[in-house]
Amino acid sequence: MGKYSRPRGTHDVYAGAEKWEDDSVRWNVVESLWREICRIYGYQEIRTPIFEQTELFKRSIGDGTDIVSKEMYTFDTPGGDSITLRPEGTAGTLRGYLDSGLYARGGVTKLYYIGQNFRYERPQSGRYRQHQQLGVEALGADDPALDAEVIQLMLSFFRKIGVSRTVVKINSVGSSESRAIYLTALKEFVRPFLEEFSEEGKARFANNPLRMLDTKSPRELEILTDAPSLTDYITDDERVHLETVCGYLTAAGHTYEIDPHLVRGFDYYTKTAFEVQSPDLDAQNALGGGGRYNKLVEQLGGPPTAGIGFGIGMERVMIALQRLGAELPLPTGPTAFVVTLGDAARQAGVNLLSQLRDSGIAANIEYGGRSMKAQMRAANDSGAKYALILGDDEVASGTVQLKNLADSTQVAVGLDKVVGMLRGV
Ligand code: AMP
Repeated sequence: MGKYSRPRGTHDVYAGAEKWEDDSVRWNVVESLWREICRIYGYQEIRTPIFEQTELFKRSIGDGTDIVSKEMYTFDTPGGDSITLRPEGTAGTLRGYLDSGLYARGGVTKLYYIGQNFRYERPQSGRYRQHQQLGVEALGADDPALDAEVIQLMLSFFRKIGVSRTVVKINSVGSSESRAIYLTALKEFVRPFLEEFSEEGKARFANNPLRMLDTKSPRELEILTDAPSLTDYITDDERVHLETVCGYLTAAGHTYEIDPHLVRGFDYYTKTAFEVQSPDLDAQNALGGGGRYNKLVEQLGGPPTAGIGFGIGMERVMIALQRLGAELPLPTGPTAFVVTLGDAARQAGVNLLSQLRDSGIAANIEYGGRSMKAQMRAANDSGAKYALILGDDEVASGTVQLKNLADSTQVAVGLDKVVGMLRGV
């Protein structure tokens, strides 16, 4: 309606939107359940800047990845620095962990975040150019129990908010050494079929061969069915690590699939990589994913520090929840809604509103000089428990009509008593 529209691939999030991925009320409920799960698992919040030095992302995510090669929002500042809007949460979190000296506390540091990410991708259902992730990073141990913990945290969160159907896929992407041997074998296998690959497939062959496995092209997938499997190239230590993680998950009653073709969009992963998908989403069906990155802290100039983390896509979670018909514990309306008729009552009503709010009672009023009927409709629409109605008679007698909006019963209450009465409601 206005002169400007929002940029392609973005969306507004506001109260009462029909699409759950646009509804700020539901976002708030899900975010508080997220914070609650993180508290239960012993994770503390980190908030990092929404932009960082471009080099941080290049160095960590990897030059050959789609994100770095074509999806970053990068610009030069007037001061001549190259800055990039954060495309994912891990790099900035680790930079913050090092910068702030958190790493010096020793032991395992467990962090969570809620943050906006920016990727210049082709927008489609569940894929935005600005999206929000809920994520964790656990730094300081290469313990398979920690891998199991973060996966369980993600699944506990999904269960808590009502994402009742999920598919867990898990793999080991080894280390850069074991992967190098595997990539040679993979390229040897693909070479005779390369002409049948798309331009993108060919580019991946040249720049980032592991990503060939992530193709959606039916022909490429068919060729790759018989490709060598990364799981056959990882070391014994890496294999045992994966088996141990799986053992913990099984013991906790989780089902999962080992998917030797699971690779994720970042170069930094080592050992465990995982993804949780939803059968209730469209093509972009990954609700969240993550993995271990045992070399990344070092790569960013820190001491050798093992780590593991994941990111969950907020918008996709909301789409899945709506499709599942989930019920979120939505907040209730205000306790009181003040309705006034006439100037004297308006003055008394505005005073009453302040007293209610000062006492911590959620209270509202309608503005714009609207009729009594319109004010009552607004009171009902707000979901308020009580309408507090004031007219000339009430002002004269120092009372207010307390109307229970659920059953329409009404009593006159002293103006000096009503705040005390509603405090306990
Ligand atoms: P990634 O950071 O690529 O590992 O993604 C983690 C999760 O973030 C994915 O599983 C998605 O749920 C979500 N996600 C990633 N990219 C987008 C996007 N462009 N739009 C919406 N959600 C996204």
